[in-house]
Formats: sequence, structure tokens, C-alpha cells
Amino acid sequence: MTKGNITVQTENIFPIIKKFLYSDHEIFLRELISNAIDATSKLEAVAGAGEIEGDLGDLTIHVTVDKAAGTITISDRGIGMTESEVKKYLNQLAFSSAEDFVKKYQGKNNIIGHFGLGFYSAFMVADQVEVITRSYKKTPKGVHWICDGNPEYEIEEIDRKERGTDIILHISDDSKEFLEHSRIENLLKKYCSFLPFPIQMGMKKDVRWEGEGEDRKKIETEVPNIINDTNPLWKKKPGKLSDQDYLDFYRKLYPMSPDPMFWIHLNIDYPFNLTGILYFPKISNQFDQQKNKIHLYSNQVYVTDEVKEIVPEFLTLLHGVIDSPDIPLNVSRSYLQSDSNVKKITGYLTKKVAERLGKLFKDDRAGYEQKWDDIGVFVKYGMITDEKFAEKAIDFVLLKNTDGKYFTFEEYKEKIKANQTDKNDRIVALYTPSPEIHTSYIRNATEMGYDVLLLNHVIDNHFIQHMEYKGDKLSFARVDADTPGHLIQKDEKTESVLSEKEQEKVKELFTPLMGGQDHQLIIRPMAPDGHPVLITRPEFMRRMQEMQMMQGANGMDMMDQYYQVIVNSNHPLIAEKLINMRSQEKKEKFAAYLLRLAKLNQGMLKGEEMSSFINDSIEFLS
Ligand code: ADP
Repeated sequence: MTKGNITVQTENIFPIIKKFLYSDHEIFLRELISNAIDATSKLEAVAGAGEIEGDLGDLTIHVTVDKAAGTITISDRGIGMTESEVKKYLNQLAFSSAEDFVKKYQGKNNIIGHFGLGFYSAFMVADQVEVITRSYKKTPKGVHWICDGNPEYEIEEIDRKERGTDIILHISDDSKEFLEHSRIENLLKKYCSFLPFPIQMGMKKDVRWEGEGEDRKKIETEVPNIINDTNPLWKKKPGKLSDQDYLDFYRKLYPMSPDPMFWIHLNIDYPFNLTGILYFPKISNQFDQQKNKIHLYSNQVYVTDEVKEIVPEFLTLLHGVIDSPDIPLNVSRSYLQSDSNVKKITGYLTKKVAERLGKLFKDDRAGYEQKWDDIGVFVKYGMITDEKFAEKAIDFVLLKNTDGKYFTFEEYKEKIKANQTDKNDRIVALYTPSPEIHTSYIRNATEMGYDVLLLNHVIDNHFIQHMEYKGDKLSFARVDADTPGHLIQKDEKTESVLSEKEQEKVKELFTPLMGGQDHQLIIRPMAPDGHPVLITRPEFMRRMQEMQMMQGANGMDMMDQYYQVIVNSNHPLIAEKLINMRSQEKKEKFAAYLLRLAKLNQGMLKGEEMSSFINDSIEFLS
């Protein structure tokens, strides 16, 4: 056996590599299997070029764990290596690229992410690595190479009949976990589930039942334990696939998730190469938990499910697989963001998703509306965060009103324009986050001929803010905001039952109840069958407050300070009852009662005011 010295300048690469790759030791398996896959596809290429006579035989890659011997062996039937190739590829190239790596990253403790160290990563878990190989070329002998994890190695010629390479890892004491069969099997499932050549890990029991009735018997056979599906769905032609195929594949990827609503099959080969399937899951209110479920593959090798840099932020809500050999994986994340391929991919994905949604909307509006409650968040989130997407999505983003009808922005503006344009020529859309809480306000608005939208998702606050900011002469006001009043002022049709003098009297009764803030009191003739007293809150103040509350401030006190009291001077309780009461004391009491009733309606009645309200109610009733 000859000895040699690996050509590296840095003597102690190994401890450094171990330290840097610490959290990701398991990557070694992915790297070695990838090499085996490469060697196998190279073999097919060589055979395709007519350089190999005869049959290639079974190309299955075998992974064996021998706990007693303390080894893991990865065997392939690929192209193998000659002695000079072993020297060149394993000693010089592999080690020098490792050295480059060390030079590049020395002193940086924060390299997260994924980089391929190739063959060399074996030393993260092994203190000795053996390679037994024989090239497909017509060489008389095989090669045996041993390295102990320092720059020295031994190499000798051996007798070996089969073409291909065995990599034998002598697992080090601190990596014993990898000698568990189940650990390796799980890692193979994680990284190698969709690799293009079969990967086998021993045998498994297959149970079948044969025969009928009394003759029915259990048949147990040993079958190869093949880890992977060599022809995953995303590599197949969409035309040949059924909905069931897509659903089955989804269930395989996310066994615990409810079925997705629809999907996009991605397939592009210019100007970059990318295949994949993106699924639209049902998106719930806690959408943070649903993020980052997309698996990224490079030539069917699983790389990561951290796709933040590759997939636009809002698309991380989607599920599925993206496979692209053009995404550079051996570099840092900041580099990734500026990589031009990655930018193109991002743009492409956004475009595809927008197209798919647009088509769905156009081809089957009813079906699209049915799904809207589930995809709405996604579309809105996309519009807020991605300008390009917003440009397209404005045609298929929907607004739903309290009657359960859906409109595009254009349609909705058209619908409400005549009735809901304010004096500044802005179209004002009214909305409620909760019809249960705002029942009386909604009824009021409806009676005035206004339409009310239902905007009840956490994202809606941001969304309307964003849409207003974008211009378009549409603004939003919550149904309990003071805005309906502004709208009505434009068109003062409602005639007053009371004279101006009488209205002044009503005002005098309510003014002392305002706590010195009588500018917030409005006496206004409104529908007689509405509410006698209404409390509204300025839209602007309320939104400021909501924003502060989201940042953790306690906005409740402020909330109660900024409100407006509108007394409906046409309501019979005001126009007939209150105005005709004889005793001043009774009048004051009655006005105070009506005000507290309105506060109750807004959930503002608390403490002392609440108990006096209840006492007064009891008194009135008896
Ligand atoms: P990379 O795979 O990125 O080129 P590696 O360090 O993993 O780098 O491997 C170095 C080289 O060693 C490979 O390019 C290949 O030529 C050779 N090699 C590694 N593993 C095998 C194998 N199982 N069969 C044949 N050649 C191999």
C-alpha cells in the first residue's frame, strides 16, 4: 500500500470543518448520496454515447448501516474511479475546495444555510473513510483508498469485479447516533425521497392477503426497502396527470394538512431551469404558522424549506415543491438575494401565480368566489407586499359585502358611486369587521341606502390602508365611523320633524352630559325607525388607535375619549316623548338614559355608569 500526502496547506482543516458545520452534520448523507447519483447519471450519459458494451445492470444505490462494525456504507454502480482519478478528485480537488471553503469562512461564526462540501463532509461524522472503487473504463484492477481525517492517505490496487464505488464511513464516537438504522432511514427520506435512481436500505416485510373466505391467508414476503420515488410528480407532464395525482402527492408531502384548493404546475427551461408544483392551502387566520412549507430541491435533491430568499414573501404562504439546479446553494444568503437568477425566479413565480388566479377568476367566477374566503388573505397579502403582483391582482381581488355578494374594485366603485360619494368626490366604502357587533349601525346604513362590506380578517386593516394610499379615489370607513353622517350631509333629504328651536332645546339637554366636550354632539334628523342616539368614532382616530394597540400600547382609554354623539331628532322618543315631557328633571334623566343606551350598544358602558343604568332601567320598568 502506498502512502501519500493530501495537498493542502492548512494542516488542520478537519477540526475547523467540524466546528463550522456543527449544526448540520447530517448533511454528509445528502452529499455522499448526491455523489453516488451523479456517478450513476454520468454512467448513463457515457452509455448513451455508446462507450459501454452490454447491459448496465441494476443501478440501485445501497445504504447499509452496520452498528457492530460502526460503519455506514454507501454503494453505487456508477462510473467509478481509476487510481489517478481517485488521486485527482478525492485528494487534490475535493480537499482543495474544502480548503477554499475554510479560507472563505474562517472567523465567520454565522454561516447558516447550506453549502455543499461534497465528499469531504464525510469527515464530519467519520474518523476514517475508505473508498473502494472500480472505473467503468477497461482497467484491470480496482482501487482502495483510506484516509484518517488528516492530510495523509493510503492507496492500493485491489481485485474488484463490480463497477462502481463503495464509500465506507467509520463513524466517530461523537456521531454514534448515525449508526441507528432509523436515523439514517429518516435522513434518506428527508433528503432523498425524490432522487432519480432507486436508493435501497435493506429489505422490508410486505404483507398481502390472498384468497377468499376460509382460504384467505396472509402472505409475508421480503421486498427491497426502496426509499425514494424516482419519478416525482413535478417532473411529469401536467397533461398526463389527474387532480387525484396532485392531491395524492400533496398528502404525501403534508400528511396532516387539509386538502389544498388548487395548484400550479411550474415548468420552465429558459432563461433558467425550474420545475415544481405550488399548492394553495386553505389559509386560516394564523397564517404565520402556515408559512415556509415549500420544499426546495436541486435536481431532485432536497435542499431546504427555508425559501425566503427565493420565493417572494407572500408566496411563502403556498405549499409544494420547487426544483431548480440554477439556484446557487453554496453561497451566503445575502449573496442569494442579489443573484440575478434568483431575482428572475422570484419574478417568474409571482407572474405565474397571478396568471393562475386571474385565469381561475375569468374561467369560473362562481368557483372563484366560493374559494375567495380562503384565498382572499393570500391575494391581499400579496398586493400589500408585492407591487408587481398588485398590478395584476387589482383585477381579481374581491370585496364581499354583508349580503354575501362579491365585487371587484371596479364593480364596487360603480355600484356605490351614486350614493356614497362625499363632498371631496371620494367614493366612501363602508365596512364592518363584525356584523354581530355592528347590527344597528349596519341597519342604519342600509336604510340610508348604503352598502356595507365585510372585512373581518386581521389583514384587512392593512389592506384598506394600503389601497387608500394607492389612490384610486376610494376610501374606507367603518360603519360606526362618523362618515355616514358626512355622506348624508351632501344630500340633505331627510326633513326635520322638529323646528330649529326645538332642536336647540334637545341640544341643551344633551350638552351637560358631554363632559365639557360638546363639539362632539350633533343633533340630526334621521330615519324615525333608527336609533334615538348613536355613538360614532372618527375613522382616522380609531385606526391610529388600532395601530398603537398592535404595537402593544393600551389604547382603550383613548378610545373612549374620541367619540361623537348623534341624536336622531326625528326619532319618536326624541321628537315626541322627550320634547313633551313636563318636568325638567325627568327630561334630563331620560336624555342621560338614552345616551347610556347608545354607549351600551358600543360596549362603552362600564363601572359606575353601568350600574346606574341598570338601576334606572329597573325603575323605568316598575
Ligand atoms: P463535487 O461532487 O462537488 O464535484 P466532491 O468532493 O463531492 O465534489 O467530489 C469530488 C469528485 O470525486 C467528484 O466530482 C467525482 O468526480 C468524484 N467522486 C466522488 N464520489 C464519487 C462516486 N461515488 N463515484 C464516482 N466518482 C465520485
